[in-house]
Amino acid sequence: MENLYNKTKFMLNKYKLSANKNLGQNFLINDEVVERIVDSADVNEEDLVIEIGPGLGNLTEYLLERAGKVIAIELDNRMIEILQDRFSLYNNFELLNEDVLKVDLDELIKNNKNEKIKRAKIVANLPYYITTPIIMKLLEEKLDIESITVMIQKEVADRLIAVPGSKLSGAITYCVYYYATAESVTIVENNSFIPEPAVDSEVIKLLIRKEHPVELEDESEFFKLIKVSFMQRRKTLINSIVNGGIVKNKEEAKQLFDDLDLDYNVRGETLTIEQFARMSNYLVAKKK
Ligand code: SAM
Repeated sequence: MENLYNKTKFMLNKYKLSANKNLGQNFLINDEVVERIVDSADVNEEDLVIEIGPGLGNLTEYLLERAGKVIAIELDNRMIEILQDRFSLYNNFELLNEDVLKVDLDELIKNNKNEKIKRAKIVANLPYYITTPIIMKLLEEKLDIESITVMIQKEVADRLIAVPGSKLSGAITYCVYYYATAESVTIVENNSFIPEPAVDSEVIKLLIRKEHPVELEDESEFFKLIKVSFMQRRKTLINSIVNGGIVKNKEEAKQLFDDLDLDYNVRGETLTIEQFARMSNYLVAKKK
């Protein structure tokens, strides 16, 4: 704890910096947690690690010691010179001063894989204000990555790692499950950061699946159905899909539920991913 805590305080003083809350800046100062992240991401010299939001570089330093190459993407201009100074002696470091949501990650990975760098992994202490768009970008762009190991808000982690069809599931649970298996690595106390975040934190690891758990006739129709089903959580699924325009009217919805042997009163979060896949494939087949 001492080590990163002192370094962080020293750097904030030296560069006369304070954390920018609008950019979700909470710097990790707990060496044990950082080691845990790098260990669970299983980083080695054959890996390209893409780090989102390196900040002052506390996680980056550990990654650079273990990875073949680290590409860090940081939006805050103030961090760029600091990072360049701090890691000037590493020849496996590349820094992009960009908004991660606008970076062509597919191209970045393709351009960096070679005989020595065999696979890509995402490792980050994410800016919490854009956790969901970042995770969805990483999954939906079907990147050639092996895993995503990230610190996120615990409440969001609960949804991401829930089993679809269980109480905590939301639309994102089904999306994550379609692309990856998810596990909790560790829950992290608020005093592991400067400044302390107002919410609880958790590190999770998503391992990208080689095969999807369900077969879909049309992925975009499936995700549209999932989105609509969770738009109004207190409504029954039948009402949600009528209101969301998935079917024309209640009669059509009832026919669908009869054909799929579903109770009219079910709510979206009780359906398994297989049941949603069957519903989506049925609707796609009917449209043809
Ligand atoms: N990795 C550092 C650590 O663990 O101490 C900092 C993590 S802090 C929670 C999140 C970092 O993401 C900040 O450095 C912030 O400036 C950066 N960030 C915020 N929005 C970003 C974006 N759209 N693209 C890239 N980086 C971003």
